[in-house]
Amino acid sequence: MNDLYEMYGRCGISKDVYMFGEKVLDGLTDRFVQFDRITEINQLKVLSAMQECRVSEACFMPSSGYGYNDLGRDTLEKVYAKVFHTEDALVRPQLTCGTHALATALFCRLRPGDELLSISGKPYDTLEKVIGIRREKGSLAEYGISYSQVDLKSDGSFDFEGIRAAVKENTKLIAIQRSKGYETRPSLSVDQIGEAIRFVKSLNKDLTVMVDNCYGEFTDTKEPSDVGADMVVGSLIKNPGGGLAPMGGYIAGTASCIEQAAYRLTSPGLGKEVGATLDINRTLFQGLFLSPTVTNASLKGALFAAAIYEKLGFDVIPDSKERRNDIIQAVTLGSAEAVCAFCNGIQKAAPVDSHLTAEPWDMPGYDSKVIMAAGAFISGSSIELSADAPLRPPYAVYFQGGLTWYHAKYGILMSLQALVDKGIVDIYI
Ligand SMILES: *Cc1c(COP(=O)(O)O)cnc(C)c1O
Repeated sequence: MNDLYEMYGRCGISKDVYMFGEKVLDGLTDRFVQFDRITEINQLKVLSAMQECRVSEACFMPSSGYGYNDLGRDTLEKVYAKVFHTEDALVRPQLTCGTHALATALFCRLRPGDELLSISGKPYDTLEKVIGIRREKGSLAEYGISYSQVDLKSDGSFDFEGIRAAVKENTKLIAIQRSKGYETRPSLSVDQIGEAIRFVKSLNKDLTVMVDNCYGEFTDTKEPSDVGADMVVGSLIKNPGGGLAPMGGYIAGTASCIEQAAYRLTSPGLGKEVGATLDINRTLFQGLFLSPTVTNASLKGALFAAAIYEKLGFDVIPDSKERRNDIIQAVTLGSAEAVCAFCNGIQKAAPVDSHLTAEPWDMPGYDSKVIMAAGAFISGSSIELSADAPLRPPYAVYFQGGLTWYHAKYGILMSLQALVDKGIVDIYI
């Protein structure tokens, strides 16, 4: 115990901050046990999918050129389909990020005259230009695809009557975002998503339902594809990449959706057959294998942050008692100064670039300045310990990731230390 305290001292954590953290941790034991149970189930789910698909050393061989018969790529896609219980999956580095995977899923299913309906309110910032909510060249709007949305109710649940009224003859695709993203609403549980999917399919069984699953993977024992989603979509530099995937995105879904997505991604007629993976297959397999435990570390970190900042009187979403449906923790700090201090605490705790200072910048795809703290092995990876915040009221910081729980813990203590050092918060033990 003394060794630990001394070690934290050498790493920049004062005695008060350390003691405060330990006291908060004492109250979290039961929740940690719950997270461990979910992880155990997901670990077995991933492992048995790999065994059933006969993952072998030959899957780790590089491919080049067209990438025909890339055993690793094809097997990885089968593994994802098994894990998500879908007919097929598209998982590859040519899907450059989550936004690209989501755009591919939207464009593959929508045609001029169709309408896209979001039933979980405003979608993630980067999708605004994909959809054309903010004007952009090549958006869905430019192709004559209209958009409408139904906001969640004030308690964060689906507005079923609103949805009934919004589904029109030309409504073709329903979008649901599991995670809160940069909003301060609660994230949706898989059960809630399942109820909404049953409802929209009862209005019109031919509607395609796409779930933006970013940050949600392996936080529950079920995924949205287990409750009727036609496509689930996410990024490999978040949960399912396990911190090892150097890039990529995935779409898991019905055979017809995946075929259309592959035709959209590469070209009609070529679909999934092309797409060399160079030398990254091993990291995609190994990352998926580690993903349940990495997600577990992130969940513990998020809960620890919630419990700390809640105790200090800040608004936190979710709070330390609520169930968690993604790895994101929002803390409303109330000022730009506090947000910047928090983020730089995380930065100082990083294994990479800990000597740098995070500054707000105009990030492509976002409509206000954003500050991002990340000292990550993979650039921009937010399954690694990271914090980001759009600099706009209510000045909420979004905290996520952590490849190990101990790193997450240290990062949170460093963020608190930064706020204490700046005189923004006082701690009483
Ligand atoms: C991160 C995220 C995206 C976009 O993914 P990128 O990889 O950053 O393009 C979309 N939706 C949600 C909810 C996200 O969290």
